[in-house]
Amino acid sequence: MLKIFLAFIGWCVNLSNYKAGNLSPKGCVADRQLCPCVRTAIGVACRLAIRFPAVHRVKSAIADARKIFLTITTYFVCGLSVFLFAAEDLPGYTDCPFLPDSKWRVHDQTRPQPKIVSSGTGDLNVTPPNDAIVLFDGTNFDAWRRNNGKPIDVPIENGAFNIHQTGQLRTKQVFGDFQLHLEWSTPTKREDRMNWGNSGVFIMDRFEIQIIESHDSFIYADGNAGAIYGQFPPLVNPARKAGDWQSFDIFFTAPQLDENKLSVPAYVTVVYNGVLVQNHQQILGTTLHRVLPGTYPLKETGSIMLQEHHSGVKFRNIWIRPLK
Ligand code: MG
Repeated sequence: MLKIFLAFIGWCVNLSNYKAGNLSPKGCVADRQLCPCVRTAIGVACRLAIRFPAVHRVKSAIADARKIFLTITTYFVCGLSVFLFAAEDLPGYTDCPFLPDSKWRVHDQTRPQPKIVSSGTGDLNVTPPNDAIVLFDGTNFDAWRRNNGKPIDVPIENGAFNIHQTGQLRTKQVFGDFQLHLEWSTPTKREDRMNWGNSGVFIMDRFEIQIIESHDSFIYADGNAGAIYGQFPPLVNPARKAGDWQSFDIFFTAPQLDENKLSVPAYVTVVYNGVLVQNHQQILGTTLHRVLPGTYPLKETGSIMLQEHHSGVKFRNIWIRPLK
């Protein structure tokens, strides 16, 4: 580059000499007003400088600097890309409000993921005790209703139904304190991380125990399966792989009212695939997305609702034991 530059300077000077009638180069692109002697001296100096040893040292230094610059730039761009990709890949948010009395925000991107543990055994195909209310035994939807009131006329296959086909379901009966057992299975086909196997058990229509694929995929800690959504992650992650049957055993203590005001909040214990993941955890309020928990309902009972979240999650063997 330096050689070309110096040759160009010399060429331009010679051109100007040509214009001035002192030399006869091959072409003419500029009209210089330099003294003929100065122009000639510069032209000759440039031509000599090309062969001067110091110039080669300068050229070598420039080449080295160029290599160093390119190397640093390459590493910087690669590092920045990896950082941005990693940040983008971390599920969760950094701009949600802090949970009450907590150092974590709602759906906090930096909240630690629950430790992965192996699941228990003996939690599937559990026979309901004789004092249980059977909500679904693989034969009918008699205990359930749709939001729109239309009949639930979808196929039941192998004793299970698909919530994406039925749509959101609520129990016809309302419950306060209870023990609930249900079994569920997420689709084997990978879906968007926020949607793969997303469903949930809404207690009293508003407190969600999250269902989502959590074996080969994960979202923010307080959104994994077994979480009290947006509030408390599961204590550990005993998820089975997508397509396998999994279970929840939920023990719920309903909120209590005194003169139409909340006097005792709700508590929940969740056993997920035979493993304790919520231990008599106080529920902070209605579970919501990206905002603080909502207010408590002014009631002490409510329906059990199964969430439809655009994913073909299957359910079977659902029964409940009201505790009072
Ligand atoms: Mg959900």
